[in-house]
Amino acid sequence: MAGICFKIHTKTKNEKMELHGQVLVLNQDYQPLTVCGVKRAVMLTFMGKAELLHRNPELKIRSVTQSYDYPTVVRLLSYIRVPYNNIVVTRRNILKRDGYRCQYCNAREDLTIDHVIPRSRGGRDTWKNLVTSCASCNIKKGNRTPREASMKLLKKPYKPNHILYLQTIVASVKEDWKPYLYM
Ligand SMILES: [Zn+2]
Repeated sequence: MAGICFKIHTKTKNEKMELHGQVLVLNQDYQPLTVCGVKRAVMLTFMGKAELLHRNPELKIRSVTQSYDYPTVVRLLSYIRVPYNNIVVTRRNILKRDGYRCQYCNAREDLTIDHVIPRSRGGRDTWKNLVTSCASCNIKKGNRTPREASMKLLKKPYKPNHILYLQTIVASVKEDWKPYLYM
């Protein structure tokens, strides 16, 4: 790899954007693992650590003497065991998990975070106890549980898995990626 300088050759004017393009990296078993930059994905395939599964037909990567496919999905050739880090419970991640909808009335406006079991009654800041709620539902529910308030949750709050995380971190999901992300 040393001494080879890759340049992205594009037919479009989006050269700068494409240099920062994202590539979906699958584990050997085709499970989505992570997202990396185009350069890193090219290195992985170049070093024989990954195979190219999908490419962008509009783009090419050029070195001085050769031209390479522009990857959009690559697959590692050996299986990597990853102890996935827990996804952090944050306001933003709760909103993402819930699709930016109030989990009581499906509203999209004035979103807040509600403790299903109120904090004052021992409810904690966990994935299963935090939901997106619009301000009016939050006020209406007050210091009660959903059952006490007769306010049913649209879905049971859950801890998101790695795939959901990948679905949400990528700014725009490419068509090539969707089958691997179950979208
Ligand atoms: Zn609501």
